[in-house]
Amino acid sequence: MAIRNPEIKYNQLFINNEFVDAVDGKTFPVINPATEEVICHVAQAESADVDLAVKAARAAFSSDSPWRTMNASDRGALMHKLCDLLERDTNYLASLDTLDNGKPFTESLGDMEYSIKTIRYYAGWCDKIHGDTVPCDGPYMCLTRREPVGVVGQVIPWNYPAMMLAWKWGPALATGCTVVLKPAELTPLSALYIAALAKEAGFPPGVVNVVPGLGLGAGQAVSHHPDIDKVAFTGSTAVGRKVMEAASTSNLKRVTMELGGKSPVVVCEDCGDLNSAAELCHAAMFNNHGQNCCAGSRTFVHESIYDEFVKKAVQLAQKRPVGDPFDEATLQGPQVSQLQMERILGYIIKGKEEGATLMCGGSRHGNKGYYVQPTVFSNVTDNMTIAMEEIFGPVQIILKFKTLDEAIKRSNETHYGLASGIVTSDINKALMYAQAVRAGSVWINCYDLCLPQTPFGGYKQSGHGRELGEEGLDEYLETKTILIKVPNKMS
Ligand code: NAD
Repeated sequence: MAIRNPEIKYNQLFINNEFVDAVDGKTFPVINPATEEVICHVAQAESADVDLAVKAARAAFSSDSPWRTMNASDRGALMHKLCDLLERDTNYLASLDTLDNGKPFTESLGDMEYSIKTIRYYAGWCDKIHGDTVPCDGPYMCLTRREPVGVVGQVIPWNYPAMMLAWKWGPALATGCTVVLKPAELTPLSALYIAALAKEAGFPPGVVNVVPGLGLGAGQAVSHHPDIDKVAFTGSTAVGRKVMEAASTSNLKRVTMELGGKSPVVVCEDCGDLNSAAELCHAAMFNNHGQNCCAGSRTFVHESIYDEFVKKAVQLAQKRPVGDPFDEATLQGPQVSQLQMERILGYIIKGKEEGATLMCGGSRHGNKGYYVQPTVFSNVTDNMTIAMEEIFGPVQIILKFKTLDEAIKRSNETHYGLASGIVTSDINKALMYAQAVRAGSVWINCYDLCLPQTPFGGYKQSGHGRELGEEGLDEYLETKTILIKVPNKMS
């Protein structure tokens, strides 16, 4: 059951297992996007605070610390304990994300379930991470060890507040790293509460630290910090570039990046039931109000079914329930902020100016809260701004294609490469597409399935490195090679 007005229990920084004010006492307001009202003020970390968090994380990473000397299986048990607590407080946490982000409560519940699955998946890995023995020339034995990379800075976006934390903490904790997490300034509340749960579960001080703040303050301080060994960033490509620059000019910290996308979904003439295909593409685009890095934001439809498909897409958009995110019937709440709403409306104006046909929506929904009407454009061409840039809102753009080769070529004509999809009943066509498309995920007759077990990440400017699955662990590990001279015989 949703809690409409969840009590805000934590609004300070979480450093070394304590909630503390920012050194300079600064705070920033957190806004409810459905009402435009201030929910609360949260302590605003700046570089001095990030420094304290890094010191705590470094101390927790020292070789004789409780965390580093803990059995790997006990580390896994702690992570499971955290998941038990997340399960206990799921309704509260989902309500917090709905209040803070505006996503429908049912979706927030789904995020929580998936976050817990992700942390449990990684908990299972704790005592299964191991090195190798390597045959080598000469009288030597070679062992490799997989060791945690160290103190990790994690900077996350606002679109899946709890889930992005889970994606980041799962592999970091499983490998034995310590963490300084900067949540997005728009949605810091669930991360602070989860930090309190980590303390309750028994994580030693300094293992996880949460420093809410602005990108240009706390975010920059994390990416520039000389004593952070790795930064894991999820957010826009533009900011990702800055984070990489900072990483390279500070201490060459390791970097993983999950960035933006402009993902194609190709609907072939043999897609089968057109209603199902339209529904798949609708969900691919409109889930999470279009605020999804792998949103299927370029719908390519075969010319022979184009008009019929557009009709169905419009019907689906028109009947999409938009409104109070706490209402069970709602599928679309407000966008996360006024700025995002205005950016989206700006793209819609651009789409009209550049000659796309607005089929439905196109305006703000209501006049309170940052709601945008579900919008569909047809007759879109590849060179239009709305076909090239990430809109990050509930705007479906439908393009026409003739041949699969053409669809492949046009799918790849983007500097992004996060995800892609194809809807067809011809497996050969699907596999040809899957092989040719330059994207980190390809979904065939489904879309947006990011499972804890399966690697996820981008080609090209959608990022590098992978999250989730076994590959997600590699990003938090160093390999140490140990060579031992072995005498041929005992003297
Ligand atoms: P954003 O890049 O503006 O912000 C992301 C995070 O970076 C926030 O915590 C922000 O405070 C911080 N930040 C901002 N400027 C910074 C700086 N100069 N140095 C360090 N940190 C800084 O992105 P957003 O608007 O929060 O999120 C939307 C973007 O995230 C979209 O582009 C979306 O595609 C992407 N995203 C990608 C994935 C993925 O897995 N590939 C997942 C979710 C979101």
